[in-house]
Amino acid sequence: MLTANENSGVESITALTREGYRGITLYSAAGGRCAVDLSDNTNLWGAPPAARRALAAVVPAEVSRYPVAYEPALANALADYAGVSPDMIACGCGSDDVLDSAIRAFAEPGAMLCVPDPSFSMIPVFARTNGLRPVAVPLTRWLDADVDAMIETRARIIYLCSPNNPTGVALSRKAVEQIVDRAPGLVIIDQAYVEFGGDNFTDLALSGRPVLLTRTMSKAFGLAGLRVGYGIGSPELIAEVLKARGPYKVNALAERASIAALSSDRGWVTEHVDKVIANRSRFRAELAKRGIGSLESSANFVLVPVNDCALTSRKLERGGICARSFRDLAGIGDAMRIAIGPWNMMQACLEALA
Ligand code: PMP
Repeated sequence: MLTANENSGVESITALTREGYRGITLYSAAGGRCAVDLSDNTNLWGAPPAARRALAAVVPAEVSRYPVAYEPALANALADYAGVSPDMIACGCGSDDVLDSAIRAFAEPGAMLCVPDPSFSMIPVFARTNGLRPVAVPLTRWLDADVDAMIETRARIIYLCSPNNPTGVALSRKAVEQIVDRAPGLVIIDQAYVEFGGDNFTDLALSGRPVLLTRTMSKAFGLAGLRVGYGIGSPELIAEVLKARGPYKVNALAERASIAALSSDRGWVTEHVDKVIANRSRFRAELAKRGIGSLESSANFVLVPVNDCALTSRKLERGGICARSFRDLAGIGDAMRIAIGPWNMMQACLEALA
């Protein structure tokens, strides 16, 4: 371990960090090593045309000056897309940023955050980096949220994800509504994959209850590299999230391209969402023909339970395919999460699995 200064009395840098924080490790992404990267659920057809044109037209002043602090023009465009008013939108550097900011704003250090198991792996990390205690509650056997068990935790924040990552399963409206009705604090509904299926729950954000929906430009909109996400909630709730987030979190280029995509690329997005949905059914059917089961999915990926994810992962990599492997998921066991893209990629994946 590094000793900061022999005379300083500081044992090590690690010893200086917060106790609940010490065990957290850096996120390690699964992709990047293979010809076909199906590991991160991005848009595998690429970025939409108007966004690309907007990036090519960036002027130097947009780079040398700060952007506008809380991105009102982007909030307007997102509000129009989501069918809410602009004061109900908080943008961020990816929806990760919005989730992290909301967690910081709505729970004291030491409070509990309840998260379904399995679900988005970053949530317990965001909870701990903000001094919260994550409590995992297994999904029901239908892979829906367990309403009673989640409410019984009395957690200050309940996190839900629909369609859920990594299962791909959309939560039932009944379970989500019951949780929103009975929760003692904030309910976050992460909808990173909402364009691909499941309920959009916008009515719950408009209901006056403390509900925050989080969505992203990283998946259906094909702009993951620009890091733009957003939250939808009541104006009072959104103001609190923005305070925790701080100014200048969405860079000028990302803002410009996102506005262009929201104004001119919606047709492109719908067309590619339709392709995902068609290829998702076709891929699952092809897996079934080969005797491989997979979970019904409302997202742009499919979860495939396997005997040993390390073995399957190596097999896929030999065929030039990266997918995300999960060891011993609650109620599922080992599994591979495979993103859905153009058919030639899915065909290569089927061949590598054979
Ligand atoms: N929520 C879920 C469920 C996700 O899968 C992801 C990305 N993997 C995110 C949020 C974060 O997405 P982004 O920060 O790119 O908006």
